[in-house]
Amino acid sequence: MGRTLGRLRRLPQIEVLFPKTLSEALSLLKKHNGVACVIAGGTDLLPKMKRRELTPRYLIDLKGIADLNLIKYDRKSGLRIGAATTLNEIRESSVVRKHCPILVEAASQMASTQVRNTGTIGGNLCNAVPSADTAPPLIVLGARLRVVGPKKERTVLVEDFFKGPNKTVLRPLELVAEVQIPPAGRNEFGAYLKHTLRREMDLAIVGVAAYVSLDSKRRICKEVKIAMGAVAPIPMRAKKAEEILRGKELDDDLIEDAAQLASKESEPIDDIRSSADYRREMVRVLTRRAIHQLLKKE
Ligand SMILES: Cc1cc2nc3c(=O)[nH]c(=O)nc-3n(C[C@H](O)[C@H](O)[C@H](O)COP(=O)(O)OP(=O)(O)OC[C@H]3O[C@@H](n4cnc5c(N)ncnc54)[C@H](O)[C@@H]3O)c2cc1C
Repeated sequence: MGRTLGRLRRLPQIEVLFPKTLSEALSLLKKHNGVACVIAGGTDLLPKMKRRELTPRYLIDLKGIADLNLIKYDRKSGLRIGAATTLNEIRESSVVRKHCPILVEAASQMASTQVRNTGTIGGNLCNAVPSADTAPPLIVLGARLRVVGPKKERTVLVEDFFKGPNKTVLRPLELVAEVQIPPAGRNEFGAYLKHTLRREMDLAIVGVAAYVSLDSKRRICKEVKIAMGAVAPIPMRAKKAEEILRGKELDDDLIEDAAQLASKESEPIDDIRSSADYRREMVRVLTRRAIHQLLKKE
């Protein structure tokens, strides 16, 4: 038995495996089925292992797989980000900043430099906590995940990926290989706002991402998506709020009505970080601010 550090205990002997390709990683998962976990940055996984919530005998390290470490943009298909890309690589990428600035906004508000240097976008999504900061922006962008496994590979909308806290649609022996974000059109703007107790190093009490596509005169809202984190068992859309904005000119009163609807749609709980009532109020405030903020973007 390892030495006890509060609830965190020293890890027992574990073998770490370093595949160089995706197919090698999948074979290792199959070979050690049931006793292996994949690890990317380990910033979520290792604390769970120290609390003995997970007790794998093998860790399959994804960081050395080139296919999982990429940021590529194509005008037709959009942006591809490998699952093992770190949050700081996303934050510092000129390609992501140019084609998907809302994701840079989200990554910049996460954790600390040290955690962002090792934590990955794939790990953030696969850990599947309701407050995962990359989820709301990816949902409003209509992003998909390329999922690989023993059967045919498939893509899943980020919006459909989460099943509950720590639960996703991933089947045993499947991995997320990359995030695929469709290209943005002209006059499309997004914003991600996060409310935390502390200024840095804190999980979201509420996170709101908003995305609009405006007409050529930048008056009418042709399309809109709003996604909220930390206010339900999974990151969720505020579809009623979106509905009243779609096809309309976005004035202050309409934006306030939408923000109130988003607040009503949220399903928060009381927990150690906030009361449910406060979260609902912050959904209203952040939704209103996010829409006003994105309308000011060039
Ligand atoms: C101090 C601190 C501050 C933090 N602050 C924030 C914050 O502000 N916002 C936030 O959202 N999170 C935060 N986190 C949580 C964490 O850092 C992020 O969720 C991070 O992105 C996880 O990535 P990782 O690579 O470390 O995941 P890992 O810990 O390596 O993996 C997490 C889970 O996903 C699985 N997994 C990883 N990659 C894949 C894959 N490609 N396919 C299938 N399964 C996979 C693993 O098996 C594991 O179950 C914080 C953590 C710490 C320790």
